[in-house]
Amino acid sequence: MATVNDLVPNLTALLGESAVLTKAEDLVPYGFDGTAAIRTRPGVVVLPTSTAEVAGCVRLAHAAGVPIVTRGSGTGLSGGSVPSPDALVICLVQMDRILEVDTENLTLRAQAGAVTMKIDEAAGRHGLLYPPDPGSMRISTIGGNVAENSGGLRGLKYGVTRDYVMSIEVVLVDGTVARFGSACVKDVAGYSMKDLFIGSEGTLGIITEVLLKLVPRPAARRTMLALYESIEDAAETVSAIIAARIIPCTLEFLDHMTTVCVEDYAKVGLPLDCAAVLLMETDGHPAAVEDEAARMADIARAHRARDVRTARDDAEAASLAAARRNAFSALARRRPTTILEDVTVPRSKLATMVTFIAETARLHNLEVGTFGHMGDGNLHPTFLTDERNAEEMARVHHALDAIVTRTLELGGTITGEHGVGLAKKPWLRQQLGDASFELMRTVKRAMDPGRLLNPGKIFD
Ligand SMILES: Cc1cc2nc3c(=O)[nH]c(=O)nc-3n(C[C@H](O)[C@H](O)[C@H](O)COP(=O)(O)OP(=O)(O)OC[C@H]3O[C@@H](n4cnc5c(N)ncnc54)[C@H](O)[C@@H]3O)c2cc1C
Repeated sequence: MATVNDLVPNLTALLGESAVLTKAEDLVPYGFDGTAAIRTRPGVVVLPTSTAEVAGCVRLAHAAGVPIVTRGSGTGLSGGSVPSPDALVICLVQMDRILEVDTENLTLRAQAGAVTMKIDEAAGRHGLLYPPDPGSMRISTIGGNVAENSGGLRGLKYGVTRDYVMSIEVVLVDGTVARFGSACVKDVAGYSMKDLFIGSEGTLGIITEVLLKLVPRPAARRTMLALYESIEDAAETVSAIIAARIIPCTLEFLDHMTTVCVEDYAKVGLPLDCAAVLLMETDGHPAAVEDEAARMADIARAHRARDVRTARDDAEAASLAAARRNAFSALARRRPTTILEDVTVPRSKLATMVTFIAETARLHNLEVGTFGHMGDGNLHPTFLTDERNAEEMARVHHALDAIVTRTLELGGTITGEHGVGLAKKPWLRQQLGDASFELMRTVKRAMDPGRLLNPGKIFD
């Protein structure tokens, strides 16, 4: 049986020496992602620059029976790109070109390693918008976003990555290059195979190119901060805004701990003495923005917001959004280990869920900062802990299990955007039920019979 190291001479002939990493010190950064306490050492890492090179690498690994782990920027939060030591890691960050902005069809074509923010900036130069804006967008790749079906701060109004993927180019497990979807706005020719790959976490194929839908950049926007003495009031404001048939582009929540850490990190003038902050943004036609902003402020005050502040200008709005994007990094400075959850509940259950998270943290005597895309019902309770302390880690795991179990009881999901990867495997069957879980495994077996693509992720 060949090992990944046996592939090195052929990989070097294909890609050149500098694109094949084998030294221990070069491999270390590819052994972990953004997920705490999950790390290994890959066998070999390759950095291809074209679809043909990816296909060549896959053909070599497939013929030798060597597992393949696809990697973007490694910002994943469920261990998805953490490799097994016998694996070939195919990292796509060198495939970062934006190939075309089509201003007639409002589309953008890019290689899978293109950084998400660069895609939105390229669209912006033509007065267009690529809406999905994960907190990691300065670093994450579009391939990683498609593989995780990532959401973002604007998800409430604009939806998630899936809503903007028109077609993808994929290298299948045997090295075949295939295209799924098309440049047509409407297309129902056969099963939507494109949708099967979106959110497949590198377990069905390697996405090498994407065609994305763009929308006109909104003419106006208004960003506001609502400050609360109680987290329940903030959660109820979100439910009330949705119930009032207002769909703002952003409704982000930060609890006290997160607000204090973000302010310490970003110095944007967040208040340090309130229990919760809502970052609210509406965009679109100026008249609609004016109207929605006024109604949202009224609803916030009716739910006991202590104060509702409006950003003075675009610069202040951008700095507030950037501060929110830094929530994870800001919390991570507090303790050695940061474990970020990703539960999502129906929006009418938000107040119940945030209260339960706070009570669970108290019960287990743990430090937890909670923030999230509250308008989507998506909460990120973030455990600030130390993986070297076994007793504390046991309490963290009990608390995590309680939060995930309560989420399922409330009709929620174990992951709203970070994927199953390694971190959420224990609960997947419980959420899906046997029939759905087994059908998913059947699809995986049909498309990757040798279990070479990202083995051990999503399923055992
Ligand atoms: C500070 C911070 C904030 C974040 N905020 C958000 C947020 O707001 N919303 C959100 O959804 N997520 C968020 N994330 C999680 C993460 O950034 C996303 O999951 C992102 O899409 C991962 O992109 P990546 O390029 O880093 O992929 P990686 O972490 O390298 O890989 C993620 C998964 O995708 C697979 N994969 C990567 N590229 C490909 C490809 N080309 N083809 C096939 N499979 C591939 C990998 O095998 C792995 O399973 C955040 C992470 C951090 C650290």
